[in-house]
Amino acid sequence: MVHLRSLFIERDLMREAEERVLESYRRGGVSSVIWTVTYACNLRCRHCYEAAGSPLSNELDTEEALNLIKELRELGKPILFISGGEPLLRDDIYIILKESVDAGMRVILSSNGTLIDDIVADKIADTKVHYVALSIYGPEKFHDYFTRVLGSFRRTVNALRLLRERSMKIGIKTTVTRENYRHIPYLFYLAKKLEASLVYICDFIPIGRGSNMEKMALSNMEWRRLMDILIEDILLNNGYRDIEIDIGAHPSTAIYALLKLRELGFNVDHAIQRLRLKRENPIGQGFISISPSGDILLSNFLPSIKLGNIREIRIRDAIKNDLYRLLGDSNNLKGICGKCSYRHLCGGCRVKAYYKYGDLFEEDPSCIVYR
Ligand code: SF4
Ligand code: SF4
Repeated sequence: MVHLRSLFIERDLMREAEERVLESYRRGGVSSVIWTVTYACNLRCRHCYEAAGSPLSNELDTEEALNLIKELRELGKPILFISGGEPLLRDDIYIILKESVDAGMRVILSSNGTLIDDIVADKIADTKVHYVALSIYGPEKFHDYFTRVLGSFRRTVNALRLLRERSMKIGIKTTVTRENYRHIPYLFYLAKKLEASLVYICDFIPIGRGSNMEKMALSNMEWRRLMDILIEDILLNNGYRDIEIDIGAHPSTAIYALLKLRELGFNVDHAIQRLRLKRENPIGQGFISISPSGDILLSNFLPSIKLGNIREIRIRDAIKNDLYRLLGDSNNLKGICGKCSYRHLCGGCRVKAYYKYGDLFEEDPSCIVYR
């Protein structure tokens, strides 16, 4: 994740979260966890990398879920992203959320929002999760086309309003493709209107239901254009100063922004220090994912690369795995990433290297600095 605003402009915006990440990493070797609690989903989005819809037959039950929370607490209280599928389809979701918060973790609930009415919003607010991120892909017509469910845009926007009415912190999350990248400024307009404090833009990884949509991934040139818009029209626009810009699955965007802002006369020394401290590589630096059936993964985008299963091994032991350790060291990278002077700040996207070359250590084909 690349937090553009806190990295370059508002140094204190994410300070608390970052300190917690580092503290957790120092204590147990894990900084953040994305826990996909189910593959059940009521939407059928075109791009869904999990091809979510039906739950697995062997998803963790409540007791196993509570044991996992206990393990994460003992490990060092990493930042916990609770995601799906649609997490609200689990009967025990409020128990999971509340127990995770009570365990002292910073908990972010990620949902499509369509199941949130007044009663559900009250229940979520009662759990005291740190914030809730809901998916929106563009204006109403486009969003409903993308999710393939008519009325989903209205329901999600209404959910954001209901959560804000309960003083909850909210964020908008999206996946960017060739079909919707022109709508990204609209998402910031909407975020401002709804008082959201973050817009998360994740690059499209063509796997799962999106595996036949490879051509929908943005080219490197289009990503550069998008970054110029994000920097010039959003980051440097005072009207959006309360909204964090978070970019997922695209670490070289941090280096692109750094070079561009330096060219514009900004002092980027602080950002360099922060990037070095917490290399924005999604895997190998204390980041893990847990699948609905308890697999410990390097990334939720890499469901076949498992470090073990929580039913059989402690996370503390699973991360002693050589692959996990080697990925954390940028000196092991190959190709342009291996030779790059920014590799200790960036590291490239290991997921895209894997899908392009079948090798986690290869160069990032989506580098927008050198390709
Ligand atoms: S992208 Fe999210 S909301 Fe859409 S089908 Fe997949 S899990 Fe469900
Ligand atoms: S070559 Fe690799 S490490 Fe260097 S900026 Fe590009 S993606 Fe990042």
